[in-house]
Amino acid sequence: MQGIEGKLRTLIDAEAIAARVKELGAQITAAHQGQDVVVICVLKGSILFCADLVRQIDLPLTIEFLGLRSYEDGTETSGVVQITSDLTKPIEGKDVIVVEDIVDTGLTMQYLLENLETRRPRSVKLASLLHKPARTRVPVTIDYLGFTVDDVFVIGYGLDYAQRYRNLPFIGVLSP
Ligand code: 5GP
Repeated sequence: MQGIEGKLRTLIDAEAIAARVKELGAQITAAHQGQDVVVICVLKGSILFCADLVRQIDLPLTIEFLGLRSYEDGTETSGVVQITSDLTKPIEGKDVIVVEDIVDTGLTMQYLLENLETRRPRSVKLASLLHKPARTRVPVTIDYLGFTVDDVFVIGYGLDYAQRYRNLPFIGVLSP
């Protein structure tokens, strides 16, 4: 990949991601039988995960997109989150599955899950591809988790570094 040759190490390869996404899809399919499911794809980081995950869920569902911006305080999210692009439909009475790329401090998801609850959905579950438990500041329940990762900055499969590398088909770590 241009500009980062030699600095990029594969952490989770494409085959391992595909296998885990398939398992999560089967788990979600079994758990949400008979429900009126709305999948919320949190932009931009979860687009690839969400696109693959929905194809492994054998249920009638709709897909909504939600854009979030977390304000950074140095290198870390400050917990101040803004919705940059909101859902196009109400979720009242719906069974919502939020699809996120990574739960790091937990501040972003805490904000979003509290915000969604005010819209009176029937249920809200969280699917996150990655979790960095070493960085937890607020505990967030991840109902469907792909992988746990160490305290490293990961890129690829939707996750960016300065808006780039989202198109890598695997999850990698940039070494300094
Ligand atoms: P939190 O509010 O949980 O600290 O942060 C969540 C957001 O921070 C994620 O949705 C993601 O956009 C960003 N983030 C946290 N850790 C990483 C990482 O290792 N790599 C990338 N690319 N983004 C991260």
